[in-house]
Amino acid sequence: MISNDFPAVTRVAAFFSGSCKSPCPPAPPATGAPVKKETIMGHQIEYHTISADATDRQIFNLAKYAYDPQEASGYHGNLTIHRNKTYDSREEAEKAIERLDTGFYSDHAVLFYRHEQGKPTAQMKSISDQIVKLNQRYNEYLEKHDVKNFKASFIGCPKCQSKIAKTYIKNSICPVCFSSLKSTSTIEEEKKISARIKELQQKYHDLSEANNKKMPAKKMFLVKIEWHC
Ligand SMILES: [Zn+2]
Repeated sequence: MISNDFPAVTRVAAFFSGSCKSPCPPAPPATGAPVKKETIMGHQIEYHTISADATDRQIFNLAKYAYDPQEASGYHGNLTIHRNKTYDSREEAEKAIERLDTGFYSDHAVLFYRHEQGKPTAQMKSISDQIVKLNQRYNEYLEKHDVKNFKASFIGCPKCQSKIAKTYIKNSICPVCFSSLKSTSTIEEEKKISARIKELQQKYHDLSEANNKKMPAKKMFLVKIEWHC
């Protein structure tokens, strides 16, 4: 966890997932901040950003609290700072770190351009509207085909053949075998709408990235820090 006395430069609280799940990609934090956190089997991974002017010492300071005092005596220090190349987006920088990562507490700092957020283009707005409409359609479809809205008081499970009183059913899931009580065609239609939404979100994300790349940029370091917890 980030301690409260973490240096001010890295304490601007802002987390974002790296890939946008909503039509509007969140604006990246203005100064150094842990931008991504994940824990995999006792490994905590954090991504921080700090100005490209930062010294090696300042970059290493980002890892100051990157250890659990009960598990380790301090940060492992296996952090390589790469100043030779600047990637064109945070996403590209993260991919570069993934390539450099040898998989075992292999930390890296790479340079990237943090572009200002561009104004959404007409095409982006149109895609965003389509996503809103499809989300609405998806929710209406879910509601309409929810087993709780069926007239019968008992519902048969197509998988385990149980007959279940409707009052025991939540989210159209069989309480006996946990499979869906919806028809195959309903499940297929839900998947189809959901896949279309994901496709449009990806398209929006790609257009947004391309659009932002035309905007003024600030050179930053993306720093991956991994520790045992
Ligand atoms: Zn069942």
